[in-house]
Amino acid sequence: MSILNYFGKEIKVLYDVDCCVVGGGTAGAAAAISASLSGAKTLVVEKGSALGGSQTLALVMPMMSTGVKDNDLKVNALIKERLIEEGIDIDDKFGNTGWFNFEKLSLVLEELIVEHSGEILYDTIFIDSFVEHGDIKYIIVYNIDGLCAIKAKTFVDASGDAVLSKASGVKVKIGNEKTGKNQVTSLRFEMGGIDLEKLYAYMKNTGDNFSPLALPFYEIAMIPGRCFALEGKFLEALKRGEINKEDMKYFQAFTVPGKKGVMAFNCPEIPNSDDTTSSINRSRYIIKGREMTERLANFLINYIPGFEDSYLIRNASMLGVRESYRIVGKYVLNEEDYKERRKFEDTVAKTRYYIDVHTDDEEPDTEMIEEGDYYTIPYRSLITNEIKNLIVAGRCISSTFLLQSSLRIQPTCRDTGEAAGKACAYSIKNNIPLNEIDWTKVI
Ligand SMILES: Cc1cc2nc3c(=O)[nH]c(=O)nc-3n(C[C@H](O)[C@H](O)[C@H](O)COP(=O)(O)OP(=O)(O)OC[C@H]3O[C@@H](n4cnc5c(N)ncnc54)[C@H](O)[C@@H]3O)c2cc1C
Repeated sequence: MSILNYFGKEIKVLYDVDCCVVGGGTAGAAAAISASLSGAKTLVVEKGSALGGSQTLALVMPMMSTGVKDNDLKVNALIKERLIEEGIDIDDKFGNTGWFNFEKLSLVLEELIVEHSGEILYDTIFIDSFVEHGDIKYIIVYNIDGLCAIKAKTFVDASGDAVLSKASGVKVKIGNEKTGKNQVTSLRFEMGGIDLEKLYAYMKNTGDNFSPLALPFYEIAMIPGRCFALEGKFLEALKRGEINKEDMKYFQAFTVPGKKGVMAFNCPEIPNSDDTTSSINRSRYIIKGREMTERLANFLINYIPGFEDSYLIRNASMLGVRESYRIVGKYVLNEEDYKERRKFEDTVAKTRYYIDVHTDDEEPDTEMIEEGDYYTIPYRSLITNEIKNLIVAGRCISSTFLLQSSLRIQPTCRDTGEAAGKACAYSIKNNIPLNEIDWTKVI
């Protein structure tokens, strides 16, 4: 193992690889699978102890559908195939084949990387990068070994927060261009011991027709003022002082495939949590989210049929961040591209998912893209002007605030990861910098 001098400190170089992926989340795991499949010696650096990022650590399930027919790229299809082999039903029969089970997804992602000779470095946090002549020479990480270095020919920033790009001098933007505010965060949770049949029957009795789904796939929701059947129950609890107004701003829960009597909750949405680039605030949001969850769980147990014997399994181990830093890359994808349904020559992903902004302010009106049409994400939105051997994947690629709220859904993040991994292998094989690749030649 070689040793490197980092500001006067002798530190170990833990790995020297072709492709180093920072962040083993939605996009990063896909990037690592893709790079390994393309023959690159690959390492994923992940600060948590499981792959999947927002999908597993933040308990975000199911994947939304891009709305584009037959749109699963190779890696996405491979992951889904493996989930099915693991006994997980991913198809709700109402157009979405993106349901999963948190633990099985972490397992499957891990297997797909390891089987293709990829390596994973868990409990390891990226902290710095060393750039020379426009190339990242190595990155500095921290783990049980202390400060260490990782060398690689190419790097993927799949951190969701553009941490590698930012540390390497890439220009970044934060939040809404007009207000500077980010989308609000949520701290999701999981409950078990729910009598789903009873809940389903109760919801049908109330005349609730929000969800067209049938068990074992089911969804409940409540947003005040929008005629949801559950609103009355929330208002009664509010009157009794058992929940606060903030607890009922956005309520949603989904059954979890392979977990009997379990639902995963897409809430609480934390009020005034629109500063996701502050470490102090992120910690405050988590504390607030846990406090809100306690009230919501007790409300459900006490007042919603089917929840009588239920219990809180866990709060997510990662805050649900919808958006923080975004790189300013070679091309900034924007609302015009959405409106014009633009299809780029260097397309890496297709979607018609709507502009989906969660904010405390008035949410923007969205013009939906009609079925059969879509816009695409160009390779140029994944690469930077500043760094030759860096590519970005996931929610922090180069786009405007509004457009990010459309491309941030998981299948699209996965697709950008797949492109990033493939591009790293191509770059090495053909000796072309990542930020000069002509993607039309790779496809
Ligand atoms: C509350 C909420 C609800 C959502 N609902 C849906 C939904 O229903 N369906 C849908 O499709 N999408 C949904 N989304 C969007 C989607 O889940 C995310 O946009 C997407 O998963 C982001 O993928 P990513 O790979 O960019 O980031 P992530 O999946 O978050 O991965 C980033 C990874 O990088 C790691 N990391 C970060 N910093 C470091 C570091 N310094 N060192 C090492 N590792 C690091 C993290 O631990 C993480 O594993 C939702 C998002 C939120 C927050």
